[in-house]
Order: sequence, then structure tokens, then C-alpha cells
Amino acid sequence: MATNKRKHEKQGGPSAKKVPPWMEGLKQAMENPDLKVLETDKAVVIKDKYPKARHHYLVLPKENISNLKSCQKEHVELLEHIHEIGANLKTRHENSAFRLGYHAIPSMSQLHMHVISQDMISDCMKTKKHYNSFTTDYFVPSETILKMLKRDGKVDINAKDMKLCLEMNLRCHLCGESQKNIPTLKKHLLLEDSKKNRGK
Ligand code: AMP
Repeated sequence: MATNKRKHEKQGGPSAKKVPPWMEGLKQAMENPDLKVLETDKAVVIKDKYPKARHHYLVLPKENISNLKSCQKEHVELLEHIHEIGANLKTRHENSAFRLGYHAIPSMSQLHMHVISQDMISDCMKTKKHYNSFTTDYFVPSETILKMLKRDGKVDINAKDMKLCLEMNLRCHLCGESQKNIPTLKKHLLLEDSKKNRGK
């Protein structure tokens, strides 16, 4: 009985933990034609409403899966499908480098993989937490998640260590240079970007 209950909760059944309405925003966004980029039979791609880089997408399963903790071995195929969609999205922007991955501790409910260009230039990138969440170990590559799921049948993330990542000193993810604050980091990233474009 206890096992069935746990399974039910994992699948988001009626006894699943209630989350505040704002955490459910991505489920509505999946239905929003202004945000939806493409869909397959199993997943939907939306534009991130508050992009933290020039190109920032979210890939979400249609199946109700709250987060990585709810994933089991049976989800490997679905997560591989999500990864493949992300890899295809990259080809839309040939001049940009991308990373595909998950936040160790997501803020929003419904599993979502970030597909984010590595310029990290965006007006919505406003805080150290924003930046560090995409440039430290807090951002877990999709391949790592798949490896864990295939090997262990679950995704195990040390929440305590991950929270520390968000508090780390600012450091440019491209060259490693230490940055005093977000405004200096933003100037530095623009400079790095123009250097890169001049080199083309
Ligand atoms: P996280 O849960 O930390 O992995 O990140 C959630 C992502 O969802 C962030 O990058 C937000 O900018 C994005 N986001 C939040 N609300 C919405 C929304 N209503 N529509 C699309 N993207 C959203």
C-alpha cells in the first residue's frame, strides 16, 4: 500500500504534494502559442519567458513529471528524447555555443531541461544566483542526468552542496576572470562576445 502511494505521488496523483500556483507556470506556458517553439508526441519546447542568455529554451515532457526526483529508469527513453530535441535546437543557431542541462534544485514544477546559449547576455540576467545557476555545478548537464538514471535508476543530488554553488564568487564562465559584481560581469561578457565576433 505504502509503495503504491509513493508511486502515485511520484506520478503527480491526487495525493501528490501541493505546490504554490506560481510554480505551475510552466504548465500554462506549454499551452501558450507565443512561447511554444515546437512539439513532438512526447515533449514541448518553449522559449524561456525570462531568458538568461540570447537563446534560452526549455524542453518539457508532456507527461506530468514534477522534477528530476520523480524520474526512474523507465524515464530514460523520454529524457533521451528531450536531450535529442535540445541537440537539434542548437543547430538553429550555428554561431552560438550551447549547454543542455537541468537546475539541481529547480524553482518551477514540471520537469524541464534548459537549452541555453553560452553568451549569458540578457537583461533578465540580474543576480549572482541567476548567473551561478547556469555556470556552476548547479547546472547539471543532461548527459550526467542520463548516466545517473541509467546506472542508479534515480537522480541523486546533494541539495546542500548545490545551494553553496549559488553563493560562489562571480567568475566569468568563459575565461575564469573574477568579477566584482553583476554590472562589471555584464560589461565583461559583452567584451568577450565582441572579441569572439571579431575573431570570426
Ligand atoms: P528552474 O526551475 O530554476 O530550472 O528555472 C525555471 C525557468 O523557467 C527560469 O529560467 C525562468 O526564467 C523560466 N520561467 C519562469 N516562468 C515562466 C513562464 N511562465 N514561462 C516560461 N518560462 C518561465
